[in-house]
Amino acid sequence: MLLATDLDGTFLGGTEDERKNLYHFINKHTDIALVFVTGRGLHSVLSLFTGDLMLPVPECFICDVGATILNGDTHEPIEPIHSSIEAKWPGKQKILEKLKDVPGLIPQDVPQERRCSFFFDEDIDREKLEQTVQLLNCDLIMSADKFADVLPKHVNKGNTLKQYITLLNYPADEILVAGDTFNDLSLFETGYKAVAVGNSEPGLISATKNKPHVYHAKNEGAGGIFEALEHFGFIS
Ligand SMILES: [Mg+2]
Repeated sequence: MLLATDLDGTFLGGTEDERKNLYHFINKHTDIALVFVTGRGLHSVLSLFTGDLMLPVPECFICDVGATILNGDTHEPIEPIHSSIEAKWPGKQKILEKLKDVPGLIPQDVPQERRCSFFFDEDIDREKLEQTVQLLNCDLIMSADKFADVLPKHVNKGNTLKQYITLLNYPADEILVAGDTFNDLSLFETGYKAVAVGNSEPGLISATKNKPHVYHAKNEGAGGIFEALEHFGFIS
């Protein structure tokens, strides 16, 4: 099977025992393919391994909410997916230049690839922001009343994962995706078996309820993933 999981609040969430239990299970079963799908950049993801010797190494990193896809061992971009994302990205400088006159928008000072994050406040001119992003032929994601993200068109966690699955020619019914917040929704829209772990964002829960392929776990984080592995029969 292939487990494609968000990190913060999902694979990294839950109790110490739940994490140990899940990581041990994955490390022991080498036939489980693991993919990390996160909003973090690569350096932030790699820093997790220095603090946790148990953390399993995935075969693929999908970082920057889908804008980066790298081989888990070599950290080389996975082609042709990487180039197709790169081709749609106008570049950070152009984004900053075009958006610098939008009131209420403040660039975030974080290392990112093919993605540009901002804070916004109550002065935000949403219409001007939306129009400018549209002219740049990019996608805009606004969340939590303070974050605005500019991404290449149609690039998100779910779409990048789907391209990877197609590249591998992996059987769709052998895949489980896991997440906990609204920026994981695109993973749940792939149609693969999915788990919203315990204590997921209400917006994600309401957007995924009554979908038969989505399991809403009781346990949080790693505990919720393990619960879903049992629920879907990946563990007998
Ligand atoms: Mg999360």
